[in-house]
Amino acid sequence: MRAELYELADANFQRGDRFETIGCRPVAGVARVLVGKGERMAITEDRVRTFDSTSPATGEVVGTFPVDGPEEVAAAVARAREAAAGWAGLGFDGRRRALLAYKALLVRRTDELVALVHRENGKPDADALIEILMIVEHLDWAARNAARVLGPRRARGNLVLANHAASVEYQPLGVVGVIGPWNYPVFTPLGSIAYALAAGNAVVFKPSELTPAVGCLLADTFAEAVPAHPVLQVVTGDGTTGHALCLAGVDKVALTGSPATGRQVMAACAERLTPVVLELGGKDAMIVDADADLDAAADQAVWGGMANAGQTCLAVERVYVVDPVYDRFLAKLVERAARIRPGGGPGADFGPITLPRQLEIIQRHLDDAFARGARALVGGPDAVRPPYVDPVVLVDVPPDALVMREETFGPVLPVTRARDADHAVALANANPYGLGAAVFAGRRADRIARALRSGMTSVNSVLTFAGMPSLPLGGVGESGFGRIHGPDGLREFARSKAITRQRFPLPFPMQSFDRPGYVLPAVKLAMKLRHGRAPRR
Ligand code: NAD
Repeated sequence: MRAELYELADANFQRGDRFETIGCRPVAGVARVLVGKGERMAITEDRVRTFDSTSPATGEVVGTFPVDGPEEVAAAVARAREAAAGWAGLGFDGRRRALLAYKALLVRRTDELVALVHRENGKPDADALIEILMIVEHLDWAARNAARVLGPRRARGNLVLANHAASVEYQPLGVVGVIGPWNYPVFTPLGSIAYALAAGNAVVFKPSELTPAVGCLLADTFAEAVPAHPVLQVVTGDGTTGHALCLAGVDKVALTGSPATGRQVMAACAERLTPVVLELGGKDAMIVDADADLDAAADQAVWGGMANAGQTCLAVERVYVVDPVYDRFLAKLVERAARIRPGGGPGADFGPITLPRQLEIIQRHLDDAFARGARALVGGPDAVRPPYVDPVVLVDVPPDALVMREETFGPVLPVTRARDADHAVALANANPYGLGAAVFAGRRADRIARALRSGMTSVNSVLTFAGMPSLPLGGVGESGFGRIHGPDGLREFARSKAITRQRFPLPFPMQSFDRPGYVLPAVKLAMKLRHGRAPRR
C-alpha cells in the first residue's frame, strides 16, 4: 500500500526503517519502498491502510492518510478521555481563554486554511473565506457564553418544598465523537466541536474522507494553540472509521451528513445507548410573496441555490412564487443565473462538484425532470460537465419529480408557481426534509416563516441563521434532530445536573415512615385548594 509522507519529505528513510507518524497522524509502520527523498513509500504492516485525498478540480493528491480502525479509534478516545478531566477542571474561564487562543491562531492561519480548503474541497477562495469568517464568530460566542448558559443557577422552589433551595447546572458529557462532511469542512465540524469543547468535553473528530487534510489542520492548530490540553483528537478514514467511533464508548456522537448515514450512526450508537445529534440533509424551500422585493429575492435565490455549487445542506433547492409576481420574479432570476459560471480559476463564481458520484445524482435529477415535462430556462440536459455543473433554472417541474423531492446538491433551481402564500407554504411543507427555509415577503413574512416546517427560516435573506451564533441550528424529519449553535447547542453537549438542598426540616415530614397520620389529609386539602379550581375564563 502506498502512502505519501508529505511532512517527512526530507527525512532520510531507508527501506525497512520504522516510522511513527504519517502526515499529521501518529501511526506506526515500516518503510518498504522509497521514491525520491522519502516522499513516497509503501507500508508493509497490514493494519496501516491509507487513502489519498485529491483535489476535485485537478485530481492532484493533497495528502495521504491512514484509515483508522477500531484499535486506533479506541486509542484516540482513550487519549481524549485522559485529557478530558484537565479540560473540565479548567473551568469556564480557563476554557474561554484557551478557545479564544485557538480562534486567534485559526484567524492568523486564514490564508493557509483558505488555500487548503480550495485545494481539497474545490470551492473558490471567497467561499472558503466566508466559511471561516462564520465559524470564527461561533467559536468566539461559544467561548464567551458557555459560563452564562451552562453555569450553576438557582431554580425557583415551589410551595410544597419551600424548605429546599434548588439549583441546576450543565456538566460536560466526557468525550464527544464528531463526524463531519466535506461540503463545509471548516464551518460544519467546528459548529459541533466549538460548542462541545466550550461545554467542557474532549472531542474525537473524524473529518470526511474527502477533506481529511482540512480536518487535520483544524486539529493541529488546536494542539498548537492549547498544547497543555490535547482534547481535540483526530482520526481519519471513511465510514468504517466513523462506525468504529460510534462503537468506541464515546459519550455522544454528533454527525453532520446524509440521512442514510444518520440511520446507520443511530443504529450503531443504539448498541451502547450512546446519544446522538444528527444534522442531516435538506431540501430547503424559498417562498416569494406578492409584496416581496423581487430584485433581492432573485439575487438571493441564485446565491442560496448556487453558491458552493449548490453543495450546501441549507441551499435553496425549491422556489415557490405566488402567481401575481411569478413572471416578473422569473425574468429577474433567469437574468442573474445566466451570468454566473463554475470553474477552478480565480474568476469562477463556484467550483467543481466535490463528490464525483454526486454528478450522477444531479444528472439523474435533471433527466427525470425533463422526462416529466420540465423546461430549462437556464442551462439544460448537458449542464453536467464533470467536474463542473452549469447553473440550471427549471420550470414546469411536477411535485413528484426527483429534483423536487430529494437533495440534489447541485446548482439547480426548480421554480414553481403557487396560487397564494398559503398554497406556497403547503407545497413547501410537503417534503420529508425540514432543515432551513427562506421567505421574501412584506406583511405576511412572519406568519409564513412560522408556518414553514423547518428548524430555521430567514426572512428577506438566505442562510442568515447559520451565521448567527446565538441561534440554534438543526432540522426536523429527514433533516435530523438535536441542535448545534447557540445556547441549545451548548446544552446539546452537556447533561443537566439538578441539586436540591434542604434549608431547614419541616415539623411534619411528608417523606418519612414516621409521618404523623394527619399529614396526608392536610396535604390533600392544600392540594385541592391550590390546584383543584377550574381556571377563570
Ligand atoms: P455522508 O453521510 O456520506 O458522510 C458524512 C460523514 O459520515 C463522513 O465523515 C463519512 O465518512 C461518515 N460516515 C459514513 N458512513 C458512516 C457510518 N456508517 N458510520 C459512521 N460514519 C459514517 O455525507 P457527506 O456526503 O459527507 O455530506 C453531505 C451530506 O451532509 C448532505 O446530505 C448534506 O445536506 C449534509 N449536511 C448537513 C448539514 C447540516 O447542518 N444539517 C451541514 C452540512 C452537510
